[in-house]
Amino acid sequence: MGLKYRTEYRTDRKVTWCPGCGDFGVLDALCDAFSRTGLDPAQTVLVTGNGCSSMIGFFVKTYAMHGLHGRALPMAWGVKLANPSLKVIVAGGDGDAFAVGAGHLVHIARRNPDLTYLIMDNGCYGLTRGQPSPTARRQIMAGENGVGQPINPVALLITAGATFVAQGYSEDPKSLRLLIQEALNHRGFAVVNILSSCPTFNRQDEASLNRPEFLYIETTSHPVHDRLEALRLAMTEEDRPRVGVFYRKKRGVPDERPKGAGSEDRRDDLTRLGEMMDELRP
Ligand code: SF4
Repeated sequence: MGLKYRTEYRTDRKVTWCPGCGDFGVLDALCDAFSRTGLDPAQTVLVTGNGCSSMIGFFVKTYAMHGLHGRALPMAWGVKLANPSLKVIVAGGDGDAFAVGAGHLVHIARRNPDLTYLIMDNGCYGLTRGQPSPTARRQIMAGENGVGQPINPVALLITAGATFVAQGYSEDPKSLRLLIQEALNHRGFAVVNILSSCPTFNRQDEASLNRPEFLYIETTSHPVHDRLEALRLAMTEEDRPRVGVFYRKKRGVPDERPKGAGSEDRRDDLTRLGEMMDELRP
């Protein structure tokens, strides 16, 4: 059963992020989206990787798995395959998604499992004192050759095959909550790349993010089902970041099996797993 108020989705754990961290806005928007979609905490699993933002699993009243850096996606898909009736949400940082986890990201995107992925993109590795991540917009290390070209998360996700791709901003909780709700309601691999700030270690990006003039994608004029148009929008350089839904398309998901076949397969798997556990018991 869903909970009525967003505050009810918060655990009692003390939030340990630095004051002003963009992850606070994501946590608020996520709990708000949960309460508005009536998400049942007992039927929801929040899977995270490693890093500051991956602590979010401790602060939300759902089941949670805190995994290894970059391995949240395969863990989440494993949960979904084991029990497709669960709502499985993945959350983590840009390093988790686009560096050590990049191989998982593109292959899971092309397979389109029914997962919701929230990426808190602050352009740095906050937990290890702010080294630039693959999305770092700043050029802090020995000019352009030090950091290289930043990854364009939205373009990468569209070309890899994600069927819902949006971009939000941590300090705009209302529009972020709406994007998360849309992602939760999408059947398939739905990703929201959330531009987020790290005031402790990435002051340059934070300053550029704190300007209020974001470009909101016009839902009435943007052909959101057209992959090439979505890619064109993602690749068009502007001096302000774009926020909104870039791409949305229906496609089959891999856990859709012929009626009657899946449950037997799963029962067999569970029986085999039980036998293996019995063998391993001392
Ligand atoms: S180091 Fe940066 S990302 Fe990590 S909690 Fe502090 S402000 Fe947030």
